[in-house]
Amino acid sequence: MPTIAENLKLINSQLPSENFTLIAVSKTKPVQAVQEAYDAGHRHFGENKVQELTQKHEVLPKDILWHLIGHLQRNKVKYIAPFVHLIHSVDSEKLLQEIDKEAAKCHRIVNCLLQVHIAEEETKFGFDKTELFEFLDSSALSKYPNVRVVGLMGMATFTDNTLQIRREFASLREMYQVINANDELLSSNNLSPLTVLSMGMSGDYRIAIEEGSNMVRIGTAIFGERNYKV
Ligand SMILES: *Cc1c(COP(=O)(O)O)cnc(C)c1O
Repeated sequence: MPTIAENLKLINSQLPSENFTLIAVSKTKPVQAVQEAYDAGHRHFGENKVQELTQKHEVLPKDILWHLIGHLQRNKVKYIAPFVHLIHSVDSEKLLQEIDKEAAKCHRIVNCLLQVHIAEEETKFGFDKTELFEFLDSSALSKYPNVRVVGLMGMATFTDNTLQIRREFASLREMYQVINANDELLSSNNLSPLTVLSMGMSGDYRIAIEEGSNMVRIGTAIFGERNYKV
């Protein structure tokens, strides 16, 4: 079995070296596994549950950049607002409003991604394309000064059909480009051009990168299989 450090090295060698972020998704894995990746020089880690994220944040080195990548309940925002580096899973205005409120309390501006539903599967959270543009057309983001939306996140359908995966990632990249080409939309939301396109996991990150991803979230290929499906 290759070590975590060896897996990281191999994956890093396959990623673009500039303007690109690899998030090591450590959900369900012990603190020691995160420490091993940290000791190998890695700093960006992702978790999908607030409790696990805060527990790991407490005991691990404080220069780790923590990403919340899973569905976030509004009543849990307060636990991560003081330290989270990037929230990938903003899927409603109510959640955004709560993040803004909690971020203001700790005098922070919290970076967020809008999660967009690009998969055919019913179970994935997120705005669909129509909702995303309705939301932005309403200039809603300008109301939340303690939230900084820096990009989009999406998950492709879990399938062997690589053409479908590619099509879904391409659709997200297109939304990203359409937003960035629309100065009026950006300024009415008080947005700078988006810089983060978070797409790609262990099984599909190569396709995601070919379709324009600049941030991948990889768990299994770094830490090995998880014992339970999350
Ligand atoms: C678990 C998870 C990942 C990583 O999945 P792997 O297949 O283990 O690489 C990426 N993104 C999200 C949102 C996840 O929940």
